[in-house]
Amino acid sequence: MSKTEVMKCLQCGICCKLFVINLNEEEYNSKRYKTVFQEFSHFDWEEAELIGANLLMQKEDGKTCIYLENTKCSIHLSRPKACQAFFCESKEEWCQDMVRIINKEKETNFILT
Ligand code: SF4
Ligand code: SF4
Repeated sequence: MSKTEVMKCLQCGICCKLFVINLNEEEYNSKRYKTVFQEFSHFDWEEAELIGANLLMQKEDGKTCIYLENTKCSIHLSRPKACQAFFCESKEEWCQDMVRIINKEKETNFILT
């Protein structure tokens, strides 16, 4: 995030329904978060990363983060680093593919934020 960007997440929840979240090693090892493949939650970091068991669990719709309640993150203050790093109005290059997907979603569903 550049120092010139002032970012305020409105907690609309759109991005939490579009992308799967990778936990980092520390987050995965902490066991603080619900992950996909709970049956493999005993796997160590290398094994988990290999099979994608370090992804946050999603709701039954298969796309919404398990921690999204209505439009807000229920673990906002302790959300994973990947969530903290991303902002939908970011000008950062690494965010642009996701920003485009979010904007398309807003256009398709006539969402104003
Ligand atoms: S980062 Fe943007 S899309 Fe994601 S919840 Fe915040 S305002 Fe909504
Ligand atoms: S942890 Fe919170 S901010 Fe991250 S995807 Fe889930 S609901 Fe959204």
